[in-house]
Amino acid sequence: MNLLRLTAIQALELMRSGELSAAELTGAYLDQIGRRDVDVCAYLRVTDEQARREAAAADEAGGGFPDLSGLPTAVKDVLCTKGVVTTCASRMLENYNPVYTATCVEKIAAAGMVMLGKTNMDEFAMGSSTENSAFGPTRNPWDLERVPGGSSGGSAAAVAAGEAVWALGSDTGGSIRQPAAFCGVVGLKPTYGSVSRYGLVAFASSFDQVGPLTRDVKDAALMMQYLVGKDPCDTTSVAYPEAISIPEDRDLSGLRIGIVGELVGEGIDPGVLEVFNDAVARLEAAGAEVGEASLPHSEFALPAYYILAPAEASANLARFDGVRYGLRAGGMRGVTEMYEETRSQGFGDEVKRRIMLGTYALSSGYYEAYYGQAQKVRTLIVRDFEKALADFDLLISPTAPTTAFRLGEKTGDPLTMYLSDICTIPVNLAGLPGISIPAGLSEGLPVGLQIIGGPLSENSLLQAARGAELAIGFNEVPPLVKERD
Ligand code: GLN
Repeated sequence: MNLLRLTAIQALELMRSGELSAAELTGAYLDQIGRRDVDVCAYLRVTDEQARREAAAADEAGGGFPDLSGLPTAVKDVLCTKGVVTTCASRMLENYNPVYTATCVEKIAAAGMVMLGKTNMDEFAMGSSTENSAFGPTRNPWDLERVPGGSSGGSAAAVAAGEAVWALGSDTGGSIRQPAAFCGVVGLKPTYGSVSRYGLVAFASSFDQVGPLTRDVKDAALMMQYLVGKDPCDTTSVAYPEAISIPEDRDLSGLRIGIVGELVGEGIDPGVLEVFNDAVARLEAAGAEVGEASLPHSEFALPAYYILAPAEASANLARFDGVRYGLRAGGMRGVTEMYEETRSQGFGDEVKRRIMLGTYALSSGYYEAYYGQAQKVRTLIVRDFEKALADFDLLISPTAPTTAFRLGEKTGDPLTMYLSDICTIPVNLAGLPGISIPAGLSEGLPVGLQIIGGPLSENSLLQAARGAELAIGFNEVPPLVKERD
């Protein structure tokens, strides 16, 4: 049996029946990390000793262990973990040791998960390829010359490469779904507010959400059972109105699905469209009623996002000034010098670009023209979704306009890089849940199908995604997992 292919639910069943020990499972994953992560670079830090200790404790506790006991889990390095350095892939936080753990991590840890380590990402989650990491890029397990997507590229690559059963990521404009698509795994961005952001280092607070990256849809539902809920430490979190259930193995009959017309035309690679159209045919064959939906303002989503997110980032990142957190540079020459030197040395180019964009958009005299206008666009996009979701139960599109691109291909041109998120960003502007599931391969590289639901509709979204997953029947793994069969 290839332990590197197991879903979390399969692994739990094997551990409960006594066929597999937590130590064995964690050992297999640490072994794969040891063999393969020199090439993939999914992890910034592997907490192997702690992981082995936790796995042994799970075995010792035996049948009485909590529900996620022994599951080898990867955690994006944007989530604070007490006692384990949390860098956000930035020089600024290179040695930052948080004094508390993010609520989402704490919840799955309390349920018994084993943390394998912290995963690589674009610095402060700004990027679409994980090339903006100050510690070097992660590589796509399907083709090591290509990017894994971003910003949760380390988490997606770890799940795809057999270096974690599942992982936590964060999504501000697509950072869970786009890397999930590029790496051939499942990624869910929950409804804004359903998962606590406490301990998630803030990028754009009105967009950021934590969510799972998994091998199948049922695992995403399983992790969500633990993630959702109101947290007194995050005032934007909500009490989830119902329990998250594990989806059943059902077809799609009775579902009305709308293809977002604006996201299947210009700018989308023909190879991606081919796989997408094939997936649509399978959804129809599985009983879904498919029609065309429209989000008329979606062409303005990207420009609005690149005003609003940097504006929020410029405020959020003001705290990194050499006084309280992480890096301090500039010697004793004076406070202004300290701010300048710390921020010049601590932040990478993309982060500086966002801070400048955001500061400009918020500056006196320009505020209305940029920030104010972008907020209005955001409202129009919310309304577009409301209208479309009145006619359809769910909306679909490709998750990303291309498959994984080559390392270095887009680093010279921020605008082309930003375009990687044209299909995912509208969903964040509206605060809706969206999931990416593997739809097939195009020239050997995974293509993602994005499914979007109404606010707090995770249960029906996950059920539909499970139906779609069964209809599509994607069962491929990258070579470096297959070789362990
Ligand atoms: N790629 C987008 C950006 O750079 C989204 C990032 C994210 O979701 N964290 O802003």
